[in-house]
Amino acid sequence: MSDPKVIVIGAGISGLSTAWWLAEQGISVEVWESKARIGGKIESTSNSGYLTESAAGLLVNFRNEIDQLIKRCNLTQSKRQRPGDLKRYVLHDNRLCCVPMTIGGMARSHLLSRRGKLRLLGEGLIFHHGEPGESVSQFIQRRFGREMLHTAIDPFVSGTLASDPDLAEAASVLPRLKALEEQYGSITNGILVNKLWKRRRINKADTFSFTGGMSQLINAMADHPGIHIRKNISLQRVERNRNGWQLHAYTSMGELNESCQQLVITAPADVAGRLLAPLDRNLGQLLSSIEYAPMAVLHMGLERRQVRHPLDGTGFLVAKRAGVKLNGNLWMSSLFPQRAPAGKILLTSYLGGARHPELLQLPDEQLIEQTQTELSRLLGIEVDPDYIRLHRHSQGLPLYHGHYQAKLAQINIRLHQYSGLHLCGNYAGGVSVRERIYQGKLATKQILQTAKRKQNNLYGIEQPKPYSTIPV
Ligand SMILES: Cc1cc2nc3c(=O)[nH]c(=O)nc-3n(C[C@H](O)[C@H](O)[C@H](O)COP(=O)(O)OP(=O)(O)OC[C@H]3O[C@@H](n4cnc5c(N)ncnc54)[C@H](O)[C@@H]3O)c2cc1C
Repeated sequence: MSDPKVIVIGAGISGLSTAWWLAEQGISVEVWESKARIGGKIESTSNSGYLTESAAGLLVNFRNEIDQLIKRCNLTQSKRQRPGDLKRYVLHDNRLCCVPMTIGGMARSHLLSRRGKLRLLGEGLIFHHGEPGESVSQFIQRRFGREMLHTAIDPFVSGTLASDPDLAEAASVLPRLKALEEQYGSITNGILVNKLWKRRRINKADTFSFTGGMSQLINAMADHPGIHIRKNISLQRVERNRNGWQLHAYTSMGELNESCQQLVITAPADVAGRLLAPLDRNLGQLLSSIEYAPMAVLHMGLERRQVRHPLDGTGFLVAKRAGVKLNGNLWMSSLFPQRAPAGKILLTSYLGGARHPELLQLPDEQLIEQTQTELSRLLGIEVDPDYIRLHRHSQGLPLYHGHYQAKLAQINIRLHQYSGLHLCGNYAGGVSVRERIYQGKLATKQILQTAKRKQNNLYGIEQPKPYSTIPV
């Protein structure tokens, strides 16, 4: 089989991981990036002894593919593990409370009333299943009751995914819990069966970053000899030609026209929608209708002795009911002590999202002052920070809102018509770095299958079959 010419659009983690898995298969691949740097949302910065991240700060892994990639990229020695004994906090009744990570732990904690605990423990007796497209709130209330939703799941969904549990689709946001319900009739039963019989590590994930932050992972992937990265190339238009795809782009040197057999677009959904609308109006509209939440990431460096809280956890998440305009705060220097100079700490706040998009309209000073006031109250901070860094993302994370799986299925149906066209952005298959790396591997599989079908078809052996690039 002769190698297909593959071009990947976007050098964020989604694009680089697709390129990396292709290169591992011996396929040389070009990555076009519109900016002057690679990494997309991910960017680690070292300044005044602090190491900060503009987006992903840690990788929570339970997939072998990630271990494989880290090993092949020679990053094993650079891994920095999060200490195992850190607590997790939520803001509850106006104070930070430790939140257990198991159903049994929740049932013993003071976070739930006696009624809430009984409802939680009765999950195995709930037999009815939800409607397709039910929201996270509907799903969790149906299975575990309202208290569990408000105390644990709401802060998790809005704090880590910037989403609104009332609008986010359960099957898209909590796929593992939905799968347990489908397979075992109840989540509790599913966890028990897996623990007792299959001994699968359901909740045991490996959480880590790298000595140089997440950019070290990005740079190591980009260094693969099979990957050729071309920066400052912004794809503007896509057309079909006899062998595949004709691409029209702007570069700093002027216009660029090139063709390829297989095209992978990993740019955000609205960009993909704009690029593909002239080819297929419906596909373009479906992609453009995917909403994103604006987000800000605010880092504050401080003297350790000026903070009263022991900071003996990963940080805290905030429930909607708490009424605080903060989605969460990670204690980065508790997770990774090397991230702050000796005697100092680094606190990272996540702001905006679907819950408070209006915060992104505030000027920097106001956003910083407001967050500082909340943190001072909650953590007992007595001084102004001596280091501040703020990142804004107008399109922070895609919101898996509405009947999202149905939308992805429709996108897939349109995509079936275009052999050699693949979509691999973080609006499908999960937003985390772990899932982006995994999705890159799945996209690679599709690309190789398409190439094989095309090759066979040249000799009249096999007709092209519909295939699906987007995980639904
Ligand atoms: C604030 C925040 C915190 C997060 N924290 C975590 C975390 O702790 N752990 C975790 O696992 N995940 C985390 N995530 C999620 C993760 O960082 C993102 O989902 C991921 O980085 C997105 O990568 P991507 O490649 O899909 O998209 P992007 O990073 O957006 O990359 C897309 C690339 O395409 C390029 N592009 C766009 N249009 C064109 C064009 N026309 N031509 C060429 N190139 C183009 C862009 O310039 C960009 O480089 C976080 C995200 C945010 C926003």
